Formats: sequence, structure tokens, C-alpha cells
Amino acid sequence: MSTAAYQGIEGAYSDVLLRAHFGARSEPVETMGLPTFRDVALALLAGRARYGVLPLENTIAGTFREGYDLVAQYDLQPVREVIFRMDHRLLAVPGATLAGLRRIEAHPIVLEECGKFLATLPAARAVPAIDTGMAARDVAEAKDPTVAAIAPPQAGERYGLSELAATIADHPDNYTRFLLVEAVRPEQRTPPGSASRRTSVLFSTAHEHGLLARCLAALAGAGINLSKLESRPKPGRTWEYMFYADFEGDVAEPRVQAALDEVRRACTELRVLGSYDVDAPEDKRAPLPPRPTASTPPPPLSLPPGAKNWPKAARPSKPAGTQIRVGGAVVGGGEFVIIAGPCSVESRAQVLATAEAVRARGAVMLRGGAFKPRTNPYAFQGLGWEGVDLLAEAGRATGLPTVSEVMSVDQVERMARSVDVLQIGARNMQNFDLLKAVGRVLRPVMLKRGLSATLDELLAAAEYILSEGNPEVMLCERGIRTFETATRNTLDLSAVPVLRERTHLPILVDPSHGVGVRRWIRPLARAAKAVGADGIIVEVHPNPEEAICDGPQALRADEFAEYAANVERAAEIAGKVFTHA
Ligand code: PEP
Ligand code: MN
Repeated sequence: MSTAAYQGIEGAYSDVLLRAHFGARSEPVETMGLPTFRDVALALLAGRARYGVLPLENTIAGTFREGYDLVAQYDLQPVREVIFRMDHRLLAVPGATLAGLRRIEAHPIVLEECGKFLATLPAARAVPAIDTGMAARDVAEAKDPTVAAIAPPQAGERYGLSELAATIADHPDNYTRFLLVEAVRPEQRTPPGSASRRTSVLFSTAHEHGLLARCLAALAGAGINLSKLESRPKPGRTWEYMFYADFEGDVAEPRVQAALDEVRRACTELRVLGSYDVDAPEDKRAPLPPRPTASTPPPPLSLPPGAKNWPKAARPSKPAGTQIRVGGAVVGGGEFVIIAGPCSVESRAQVLATAEAVRARGAVMLRGGAFKPRTNPYAFQGLGWEGVDLLAEAGRATGLPTVSEVMSVDQVERMARSVDVLQIGARNMQNFDLLKAVGRVLRPVMLKRGLSATLDELLAAAEYILSEGNPEVMLCERGIRTFETATRNTLDLSAVPVLRERTHLPILVDPSHGVGVRRWIRPLARAAKAVGADGIIVEVHPNPEEAICDGPQALRADEFAEYAANVERAAEIAGKVFTHA
């Protein structure tokens, strides 16, 4: 069994986090509490523990400098970031009352996170403790009803304390980002080029005009998304500044290396702390790994027919399947996801109303076209970048990641900065330059099947994207041209099991464009679920009669809840049929 070291004693947040983290992964780990964060680093170097956990930042209190500094000083290797919800409780011995409290103990950062609540108890003095576990233990041992500790509920249980108050942080969404580290370089779990890796660096610049901007421009120029930038004066080097920066991407990627080379030229010192897996907060994460279902066939042993043209897309190259994390959802992770939103973004009110309606009932992503491929050159062509901005705004307002179509190579970089998933429309499935361009950005791509494309051609198109280094491609069956005219297209649901066998990439179904008629979308969405798709993408409008584009196939926003529930039930029914067959 491996050992994981943390600062504090049993019941401290890091201890609770380590148990939850490794418990969820079924990796047996023994936790080891130590007096300081430095002791954690030293325990790793001495081989007394395999893992160590260090806090990096908190959503209320900001950066924990020591976490970054220890990783740099002892050359620790980051493995994964773990985002943990800080569930602060005010704990005291049974019989204590809020009014009777005279002293409240907690880790200084925890006191900072609960500043507003503490201000409501002027008679109680806030006293910093070494860690939350110790604060709880001391309160229990003192048996004094005038003292309380702020600690996680697990500490209350461990030390027999009662809860006087809950949800006491300044904001209910209170998360701390921890870094799991090892002393030796861990084996990389996710391939470079994946958006699910993050890199932390420290760099210094001389106090000269434009140097920081040059460093940032180097990252921006490579399409690298910065998630943290913090400056502080460099101790002992007056007027030199040091910056902590985190960004999406892996140092093994050529584009990241090239950008860092440029940063190196503009700064006096650059330390790459390492690249690591990123994680959604434990309480917001879609379940992993995938639930095996009867509709997920075992991977075939030999290469599928035609696979010489698409070796990277072929299932044997990744037998476990590709899982694409977008926001809190995982596409291809065994859950059935619903992506919903208007065909095109028409106005702020329209996209916001739609976003709210679909988020309320379980959609995990918001779609919305801003550049529209229209058959008629005189028809509405989309709002362009204004539409992209409105979509991004609606995404931020609802917390939904966004999907939008890119129609040309010159739109790719800017679109990748504004939306979470790039859509390649059916009409562009064989626009090879566009496929290559989306292969070079760190954004998942939803590739729609061309109107008259075979599955072999769809997989070869996906291969263009994969071969440029972007491993995050989801395929989308959206109906093909046949002799049938009763439906807008013919939704080829047989594509799902065939693709499932041939490729490891997630498979979505778009019943809206597949049939083009609102009332037939629901049965086909249910069928998509039953046939084993990883999710659906559907068009939704607050007022379909007034939609500028694709109104007849838009689901009504106020009826979306009912549609979603219906599809969900189909899942259960389908599950029964399959398991008893
Ligand atoms: C769309 O999703 O709005 C769209 C234009 O889709 P497709 O490329 O499948 O026609
Ligand atoms: Mn449409």
C-alpha cells in the first residue's frame, strides 16, 4: 500500500481529501500527517511517502505561496491537481452555544475564508491553529463549551464534536486546488496535447517596460490558455518580479515548448514546475470510469476494415475509449450527455433564455451557431463574432461550456479562445485545411458526418484532426442524404454501433438535423440512447415560430425539461431490454 503525506493530523482537510480521492479511485493509500508542508516535501524525498499533497490556491483566500515554492525548491513532480470543496463547519463540544463562544480556532486561511461569519460573533476571538484537524482535537480535549473549531464534518465525527453552524465560508462555492506530488517523475497518464493537462511555471522578469507582455504574448500566440497569473517581488532582488503562472497544456507538446523558449528569452529565469492531470471538483465530477453497458461491445482484437487510413482513430489504438472532459461533464465516460441550444445565436435575450432553460434540466453544454453554413447565400448567415460573444456570455451566466461551428481556418484560433468545443459542420467534414487547423488547437472538436459521407470517410476526417496532435474528437451522426424525402435527412442510427466497434472516439447523435421535424426528435433521441450513443445534440429555441433558422426542428425551451426526462426514461427502459436480452 502506498503512503500519502499531508500537513496536519487526522481530520484535517488534506487528510479528508486524500481519503476521498484515493477511495474514489480504489487505490489503497495510507495517510500520514506531518507538522509542516516542508515535512511533507522532505518525507517524499526520503522515500517515506509516495505521494504528498500541497495546497495551491483557494477560491476565496487566493494563492498559497508555500505550495508553489516547495514544488520549486525540492523539484517535486506534480501528478494531478485535486479540487476539493471546503465544507466548513463550526464544531464544539456538545452543549456549547453560538452565543457562549469566546474563542474560535482554525487554520489561518480557513479563518480568512469565513471572515464574514466570524464578524457576526464579536464576542469570540479568532485564533489561528496549525491545522483544522488539530483545532478540532484541541476543542474536544479542552471540553470547554466556550471554544469552537472550524473544520470539516469528518473532524467533528472523529473527535465527537457537535455542529453549531454550517455553510460559513464567505461564498458557498468554496474550493481549494491542491496538487498531488511525487518525488520522482510519475508516468504520464494522459497523452500530451490533451486539454486535460495543466502546467505550472515560475518566471522572473527584469523591471522593464513590456517584458511581461512579451511573455504573455508568447503563450497567447501559441493558443495557450492561462488559468493563473500572480506576481510578487522577488526576495533579495529589488525591482525584479516573480510570476506564478498556470496554463492549459503539457510541456511535452511542441507548441508549449516553443512558447516557453520564447518566454525564456524575455525573462531572467524560468522554472517549469511540471505538467499534471487536471480534475473537476470531486463534487462536480461526472462518474468515472465508464459503466460497461450491453451496447458497448468489447473492442475487436484486429484492426477494423479500412483502418490503415485512420490508425489513430481506430479502436485498437485506445481500447479503453476516449473520454473528453468538458466543464463538469465527460463525453464518452459512460454517461449519456445532452448538448442543447439554438441553431443560431440571434440575440442576447434568446440565447440567455435558452441557456437557462436547458441548464435547468440537465444539458451539460450549450450549442449555438454564430457562423452558419446556409444553402441560400441570401439567408441569415449568423451574427459572427458578436454571436460568439453572446454565446460565451450565456455560457458564463449559466456555467455551461459552449459549442459553436467554425467555418474557416482563419476563425479557428479566435473561436478556440471563446468557446469550449469547436464544431465542424457536415458541409465541412472534408475541408482538410480546416480539419488540420482544429487539430492544432487545445480544444475538443465535434466533427459532424458529411451529408453523403461514408463512415470510413468520417473516420479519415477525424484522423486529420488526431494526426495534428489534438486527441479530443467527438463524432456526430446528423443524418445523411438518401432517396427519402419525408424527413430532412435520414438519421443513420446504425452508424452508432458500427463506429463504436471501429473507433475509440465518443459518438453523438443529432436528431434535430437528422429528421428536421420537432415531433420526431424525441423518439429518435430515445433511440440514440438505446443504440448506445454517448449523447445527443439538439436544437432548442424559446419561440421556434420566430426562429431565424431551423425553427421547425427546434424543441420549445419551455418543454425541454419534459423532453430530457423522456430521454432519461428511455435509458432505463433500454437498459432493461438489453440486460435481459
Ligand atoms: C448545426 O449544427 O446547426 C448545423 C449547421 O449542423 P450540420 O452541419 O450537421 O448541418
Ligand atoms: Mn441548425
